Amino acid sequence: MTATLKLLPGKDKSIKARHPWIFAGAIAELSGRAKPGDTVDVVAANGRPLARAAFSPESQIRARVWTFDPNETIDHAFFKRRIAAVIARREALPELRGQQGLRLIHAESDGLSGITADRYGDTIVIALTSAGAEKWCDAIVDAIHKTTGCACIYERSDASARSREGLAAATGWRIGEAPTDEIVIEENGVTMRVDIVAGHKTGFYLDQRDNRRRVAELSANKRILNCFCYTGGFSLQALKGGASEVISVDSSGPALVTAQQNLGLNPQLDASRAIWHEADVFTDLRARHSANEKFDLIILDPPKFAPSAAHAERAARAYKDINLQALKCLSRGGMLMTYSCSGGITPAMFQQIIADAAIDAECTVRIVQRLQGAADHPVDLAFHEGEYLKGLLLQVD
Ligand code: SAH
Repeated sequence: MTATLKLLPGKDKSIKARHPWIFAGAIAELSGRAKPGDTVDVVAANGRPLARAAFSPESQIRARVWTFDPNETIDHAFFKRRIAAVIARREALPELRGQQGLRLIHAESDGLSGITADRYGDTIVIALTSAGAEKWCDAIVDAIHKTTGCACIYERSDASARSREGLAAATGWRIGEAPTDEIVIEENGVTMRVDIVAGHKTGFYLDQRDNRRRVAELSANKRILNCFCYTGGFSLQALKGGASEVISVDSSGPALVTAQQNLGLNPQLDASRAIWHEADVFTDLRARHSANEKFDLIILDPPKFAPSAAHAERAARAYKDINLQALKCLSRGGMLMTYSCSGGITPAMFQQIIADAAIDAECTVRIVQRLQGAADHPVDLAFHEGEYLKGLLLQVD
């Protein structure tokens, strides 16, 4: 018997608006037994069926909706249907066809709460972050395998979000096996190694694909500073675009090692124009300003400073700080490409932070382009948390 999760009066609004999270505070009672990850029927206070969801007893997000059709069965076939539909949506977008690095499943934003899948050539890396996803792991792996035909699927379920769901880390090959130090993709004409075992997230930041191409377009004869460079995605595009010098800064030694390996994989690029520097960006930018260093283009792509709205204030100070320091290091007419990937900072908040930094830097700053994640990172309008990546391309007087 499926257990039933009854909501408190008035707490069915977000479900009706097709938001997939049910918080503990919205629940009146659970009748019947449900183990972590089990499917429960979600009903309104008056008993009206609303949805079917995965139960997460340990998490403040107590249930995650699989379907807003209260009669749809959650079984192996459900995951096959959903995953085939997501992949068909990707295939419908011409710019994604043939991409070697591609986000196949973008969790909530693709109607699959807690499930991420990235494709790197013939290898797929999945990351499961909810009790419901964990319960259906075998079905999910099988559906991805059958729909894509990919022979190798690696699980990288080690995000900190799992502990909030009471789940331990789970990593390893689920189907097939491939030499992990040979996984490379071509992106915008540059070859990049992807470390699926020890790299960040599933190994690579696929969401910046289009924005990296934009950097190549802007780079000819420019002196460029790429802050938070990770494995050099933006740096290599800058070299490809003809930058005169690219200085890349990151605090992670291993990321910088991969970045330099990546440069080595691209003999068409002029490696003598690249400088790699292991440092904290907050300190490094100050030092460069004190030394009166100037750049034509600065890229700021920091990690998530505000995972949720609760961290927004502290994060805003950090964003303002690095953007202010970067503005001070720009030459006349220079450009700043700046990002926030924090779910807790809205695009409007981010713009205001940059405006405040511009006032302190005493310069006129104009937005020439708003930037976002690539098309394989769609945003479900009902799930505003999915709009995590926002960027601004700015020109400075
Ligand atoms: N722009 C990259 C992704 C950046 S991810 C790309 O296109 O692939 C964020 C990076 O910031 C990580 O590599 C992390 O090691 C680095 N990082 C985090 N905090 C830092 C700090 N205070 N100073 C320098 N680097 C930092």
